[in-house]
Amino acid sequence: MSRDLPHWQLKELYPSLDSPELKADLLKIKNNVAALKEYEFPPCPKSVEELASDLSKMIKLEEELIDPVEAIGVYCHSIITTDSYNGEAVRIDSSLDGAKIALSLLQVRYLKWLASIPQKLWDDFWSSSASEELKDFRFALQEERYNAAHLLSEKEEELAAKLEQCGTQAWAKMQGLITSRATADFTVDGETKRMPLTAIRAYQTNSDPEVRLRAQKTEEAAWKTIEDQIAACLNGVKGSANTMAKARGYSSALEQSLRISRLDDETFSALWDAMQRSFPLFRRYFKSKAKKLGLPKLRWCDLDAPVGSSTKRYSFEDCQSFLLRHFANFTPEMHDLAKRAFDNNWIDAEPRDGKRGGAFCMPVRKLEESRVMANYGYNFDSVNCLAHELGHAFHNYCMRGLPAKQRKCPMTLAETASIMNEVVVSSSAIKEAESKEEELYILENMLTSASGVIVDIASRFLFEKEVMKRREENELTAKELCAIMEEAQNATFGDALDENCRGPYMWTWKPHYYFSGFNFYNYPYAFGQLFALALYSLYKKEGQTFIPKYMGFLRSAGQDSPRGLAARFGYNITKKEFWDNSLSVIEGWINRYEEL
Ligand SMILES: [Zn+2]
Repeated sequence: MSRDLPHWQLKELYPSLDSPELKADLLKIKNNVAALKEYEFPPCPKSVEELASDLSKMIKLEEELIDPVEAIGVYCHSIITTDSYNGEAVRIDSSLDGAKIALSLLQVRYLKWLASIPQKLWDDFWSSSASEELKDFRFALQEERYNAAHLLSEKEEELAAKLEQCGTQAWAKMQGLITSRATADFTVDGETKRMPLTAIRAYQTNSDPEVRLRAQKTEEAAWKTIEDQIAACLNGVKGSANTMAKARGYSSALEQSLRISRLDDETFSALWDAMQRSFPLFRRYFKSKAKKLGLPKLRWCDLDAPVGSSTKRYSFEDCQSFLLRHFANFTPEMHDLAKRAFDNNWIDAEPRDGKRGGAFCMPVRKLEESRVMANYGYNFDSVNCLAHELGHAFHNYCMRGLPAKQRKCPMTLAETASIMNEVVVSSSAIKEAESKEEELYILENMLTSASGVIVDIASRFLFEKEVMKRREENELTAKELCAIMEEAQNATFGDALDENCRGPYMWTWKPHYYFSGFNFYNYPYAFGQLFALALYSLYKKEGQTFIPKYMGFLRSAGQDSPRGLAARFGYNITKKEFWDNSLSVIEGWINRYEEL
């Protein structure tokens, strides 16, 4: 074989799409679904012993039902994402839809059953020895019971699910259609072409400041012609979100979102405080970046402009030895896991026809392994991207042996190990940089990403909060939405951004504002970044004694709130001091950036 970039394989899961093993699992799923229709939940338990027995049975049933659906889903996904022409994989994967619907209906009935248990019995159970064997499920079960209390009646839930498809989801679909099909004329190298706005936006990473500004202004002029249609979509989505949050008994859509993220108000306010304290630091970075670009002030279109350069080429072997070397310094377990991934074809690295773009890591729970998909590009960004995805694989490895119910991580914690790996690898790469240009290039990448995830995300949060509030009174016009966006950017980027060149139309195309199941899809990114940076700083201070705590933390990430987990390891994330750790890492980067 001539190719030097590996393809992944999952033969240990199923030998092939038409193997007897896969057919047997499909049959098992079919029988399970048929049996579910008849399934009767036990009557409300009368004693703690009865409750223990009922809960154990249901946890076991859940595992049995999920296992084959998950295994076939993962197997098909591994094929579809790397070979979209494989119709058989698509067909088998979509044949699981019926089973998934049956499982979600069963879940609603299960939650209703859980909510029907009297509070006194529930409390007695957890303080009695009957709960001993289920104590590791306590958090998951408590959370399910909490969610159950916010369910509507079975009939209303069914109606809401149906209306969501032709309400919120339809608005989101419309936004997706309008924005993905929007085009404008753009001139490159003297030639004018009709281009999708996404392609024009890519010119904001161009090294020529005139091209960047023209790209931004062309995009904005195009948004202006369709702003009312997109504003109608946003009004539809946010109006429904307010209605549903209230109907479910939350004080606001924000409260609902925070509970899904497992953040209490005190933790959230400590996070928000840390974000605000980081703004002056990032403004120093933006100002220094403007200077490096030869501009009086940074404009919106300059945020992703390139600074520094790296010509170093990393072959896949270079990437492997670079990562293994730096992981070994971090923790031997991370090194060993990455080595297994490289040695056993867990990674699909070659970009090719029919393969999806981007990168992701997927757990293969049945094998207690992971698979990583990437599109390797022989540069430092690709190395960093693999470090990130292998961080997810490490997190999966730390959770090995746990039942599915104890692995459910909120988005706030899901990126801890991946960002940690990125910081470990980037910090090492900076030390080994062969020129100032290269060091600047790596630092610039780290700061562009961190400022995006903290400062821009803060502006998105402020925007969404204001929109949700005002949407309770009336619909908002496109002009109002642009004004709210500019105000939010002013409150976060402040005087580091040219006041005549902000990004008023960011609400039109960012899909996060239009997600139906999750409002405020923004602060979890900031939490993930700042939390991982704080852990990195603690690792730097505590050295190897930090590692067992870190691995224990990752292992139990599905078994408590971020606050509760951190407390288990002696950290208080409601306190300013904890988040100061992250700010000091950022400050170190910016100090060096200014020097270069
Ligand atoms: Zn990730």
